[in-house]
Amino acid sequence: MAFSFTKKSEITLKKGKAKPFWHQHPWVFSGAIKDVKGKPENGDVVDVLDDQRRFIGKGFYNEHSQIRVRLLSWDLHEKIDNNFFHEKIKNAIVLRHEVLNLPKRTNSYRLIHSEADGLPGLTVDVYGEFLSMQFTSLGMDQRKEMIMNTLCDMLGVDTVIERYTAGYRKLEGMKEIDHSIYGPEPPQIFEVHEYGATFLVNLVKGQKTGFYLDQRENRLEAASFGQGKKVLDAFCYTGGFGVYLSGKGGAKEVTFLDSSPLALSMAETNVSVNHCKKANFIKADAFKKIPEMQEAGNKFDLIVLDPPKVAPDKKSLENGMQALKKLNMSAMKMLPRNGILITCDCSGDISSHKFLALLNKAAIDVGRQVKVFHSAGPGPDHPANPACLENVYLKTLFCCVT
Ligand code: SAH
Repeated sequence: MAFSFTKKSEITLKKGKAKPFWHQHPWVFSGAIKDVKGKPENGDVVDVLDDQRRFIGKGFYNEHSQIRVRLLSWDLHEKIDNNFFHEKIKNAIVLRHEVLNLPKRTNSYRLIHSEADGLPGLTVDVYGEFLSMQFTSLGMDQRKEMIMNTLCDMLGVDTVIERYTAGYRKLEGMKEIDHSIYGPEPPQIFEVHEYGATFLVNLVKGQKTGFYLDQRENRLEAASFGQGKKVLDAFCYTGGFGVYLSGKGGAKEVTFLDSSPLALSMAETNVSVNHCKKANFIKADAFKKIPEMQEAGNKFDLIVLDPPKVAPDKKSLENGMQALKKLNMSAMKMLPRNGILITCDCSGDISSHKFLALLNKAAIDVGRQVKVFHSAGPGPDHPANPACLENVYLKTLFCCVT
């Protein structure tokens, strides 16, 4: 598809609405806009001006999205052409390869993390010689071919799997798809190697792009607390935390709990591939099952809680926080004094302060005390953009419960 980069459309903001964008927040919501000049097509690059018509930045326009403009550049003279994308991709690669040296630790990592890498609506994960991509903004989706070709050339890759995140594309007025494959078919099952552990993952049918890459460093950290412990890995997916705790960590027994049969069957395979010790598998809704287990008198020395987003949007915040609190209360009750709770939350609307306050309330309600001895976020391949705190999502707290 050819783009006209010369035609200039201008979006003027309402008085008093420009401040976040001067501070490089990349999302211009429809409510901040006073008028649109130049009839931009959806996906075109437009200039954004303040109410006194001073240039602030430029980005992708989409009238179907509540995020009407996704800002890409704050430089009046910068052209949003192929070279722009090439540079952003190059910088993303430099961070993962040269600064972080990730390929030394793992064959699977996030290469492009959307706004944090200056490419709003583009997520790219590397799985060995395969790339998994998600396009969640229309502007990025329209430039798919160029972006894929650039990445494949730079990394020497032939196969790209395009995955779709439920809901996101709809918000941008894009067709919902399941997945597409470009280039030679990838194998049904791919082996992720991270820090000496092996995980078999399904790149086409697995959740997210196949694996929860963001918890890599936290899984490794967890392993150091496993020795001799009886562990519950709740919301285990394909066994991430439990496999580390049992294998490297030396836990004596791990119970894996998840509601997805596909995830649990992969967890079983991963347990055997990593020669883990005693393992039990429970398929259930953990929000119901964990309180039941607690009431039935089950005890564990270490519990991991890694639920999906409990508050996908602001409307579900109150109920989601209640559910999360109850879950943590039941988990605390199953731990002995000085037991370990590794508790996570990945809802963008629950800040780390809110999460800590929730844990505090949960502890008070069950007559316990929580000492957070390590607070973590996602691994370094999921950097944060301090201008866009909405994208700061994962909190993983390592706690001692007395
Ligand atoms: N800790 C995992 C990632 C967990 S992702 C790792 O390191 O790989 C969240 C998991 O919660 C998914 O596997 C999903 O299937 C599961 N899940 C979602 N809702 C659930 C529920 N109500 N009960 C149990 N598991 C659930």
